[in-house]
Amino acid sequence: MSLIIKGAQLVDHCGVAPLDIYIENGTVLATGYDIDPSPEDDVVDARGLVVLPGMVDIHTHLSLEVGKYTSSDDFNTGSAGAIAGGTTTVVDYITPVRGENVKEAIDRWFKKAAESRVDYSFHLTLTDASDETFRGIETAAEMGIRGFKVFMAYPDRLMISDDDIMRIMKKVKSVGGVLFVHTEDGVEIEKLRNEAEQAGNTGMKWHAASRPSYQEHNAAKRLYEMVKNTFCPTVIVHISAGEVVDVLREASLSGVPLFGETCPHYLWLNESMLERPWPESATYVCSPPLRTSEHMSTLWDALIFGDIDLVSTDHCPFSFENRTENGENFTKVPNGLSGIESRFMLMQNGAISSGRFGWTRLVRLLSTNPAIIAGLYPKKGTIRPGSDADLVFFDPSSVTNLESDNMFTSPDANPYDGMSLLGAVAAVISRGEVVYDNGILTAEPGRGEFVPRKRIDMSRLWTVKMEDHPWAFCQ
Ligand SMILES: [Zn+2]
Repeated sequence: MSLIIKGAQLVDHCGVAPLDIYIENGTVLATGYDIDPSPEDDVVDARGLVVLPGMVDIHTHLSLEVGKYTSSDDFNTGSAGAIAGGTTTVVDYITPVRGENVKEAIDRWFKKAAESRVDYSFHLTLTDASDETFRGIETAAEMGIRGFKVFMAYPDRLMISDDDIMRIMKKVKSVGGVLFVHTEDGVEIEKLRNEAEQAGNTGMKWHAASRPSYQEHNAAKRLYEMVKNTFCPTVIVHISAGEVVDVLREASLSGVPLFGETCPHYLWLNESMLERPWPESATYVCSPPLRTSEHMSTLWDALIFGDIDLVSTDHCPFSFENRTENGENFTKVPNGLSGIESRFMLMQNGAISSGRFGWTRLVRLLSTNPAIIAGLYPKKGTIRPGSDADLVFFDPSSVTNLESDNMFTSPDANPYDGMSLLGAVAAVISRGEVVYDNGILTAEPGRGEFVPRKRIDMSRLWTVKMEDHPWAFCQ
């Protein structure tokens, strides 16, 4: 079955052009000016729309268990929201509970993901540096799971020492993987949290006050030294502190493979939201915390200048009931915000409608770079012959209202509730199939496929940092 998309402005990581797209059996066969359809081809008239590669969100936590709580979107609702928001591939973090065998945790995540409506892949969170964990890294890599994550925070459950992180880096590099790091200084945070609690300062604003930006910066500097030593491709996840951008810039100038990710909430929401009256303030608790407007501006600039390489969601909402049932004490509120459904529209407005940067950069931050870093490119993240026909159609003349009751993801505690944005996702195609059309979701649970990840290709990885992509990469 073949399908031709005609008349749209096509955007990918190399530019914008009025090209038609020829799709066969779920794959892009060609792009070109005025492709002539034959009588048996289906033709979609997309005049007036912008067509982009399906967005790739490589940081989600669907049905993640944290203590007695579970994040409130599973692969069914989370992937429904992803599609409605223009995302056609998600990469979720397999997070074993401490002591759980890695293989068992992987199997458990495959079961959860069986109801995904979009294509998916995984990273594996490592909770220690034992021999068992090192064997787990090999097992995961053989299964096509080549993203790994460690924490420099949470000493009681997840933190791993710098020496052990360096040992893990060497192992991850040897299996062609990428390491993702939660870069906060767990020891310093623990000290400040205890001080705040002892002084009776338990309101939500103390969540941010006990995780100041300097500790995130210090952790990033330590991480930079580790990457310099091991040369393991590494990503600082969910950057909230502006100072971390300096570390990334130095890494980039020195050829050290350290990359940076931020999230829409660090670009759109600030710490004053934690000072709203309880219990509304509980809606805004995430780690690292929301910060001041100065940090937000620095992060936007870093997206413009290429110092930060991708924007993912860290989608990890908890119900309002879970957030508030232990009273006004920031140490007892489960951390995490929603974003899987709103990321593309928030970033489109923040970038293009606000005039900060253009379509090509937007596509790189939300689709191409995440796909490269996660080892999914060129199957995902581009509209090139041979890639999956995952497409988003954007209608600039429409409006999107982020009203929780009308969204597919968990309606509780949506930090963007009531926000109105210019433009809208008009339709989404996943592997050649229309899965969303003007508000109607037609993707069934379970249609998503697991996408195994290849060994990371270092020369391709560096294109993430290039201002202009080399010609060969744009063919
Ligand atoms: Zn996360």
